Amino acid sequence: MSANNRRVRRFIVEILWEHGAMTKEGVAEKLSTLKNVRTIPSPHSLSALLSKNPQIISVGSEKVENAIGVKASHLLYDIDRDVIKSRDDILYTRSPTVMTPTQRKQAVQCSCGRIRILPPNSEVCLHCVRKG
Ligand SMILES: [Zn+2]
Repeated sequence: MSANNRRVRRFIVEILWEHGAMTKEGVAEKLSTLKNVRTIPSPHSLSALLSKNPQIISVGSEKVENAIGVKASHLLYDIDRDVIKSRDDILYTRSPTVMTPTQRKQAVQCSCGRIRILPPNSEVCLHCVRKG
């Protein structure tokens, strides 16, 4: 995966953390306001970035009406708030594909199989702390 895509994945989680559940169109709009995102992913790859990140879940859908009055159902995405309860938790739930190179060096494999940075003084990953 490109460095830009990894960065975009991290920004998406930050956006959802701050603004709450939204459609991928909403995410694209927020991404376009960030100066350090060079290219906004296409709607298709944005769907993939949202659905392949274990930090993000779909939480329902919203009816959206287009310019000619056709209503369509758009999925709403949010971060997994059962696991991510504070801003620090965002770091501890990152999968290796979203980590920076430095973070990947700090990551270890938890007994559940996930490769994560462990919370301070914890011997298991945050998923296991919250759901174990
Ligand atoms: Zn674990």
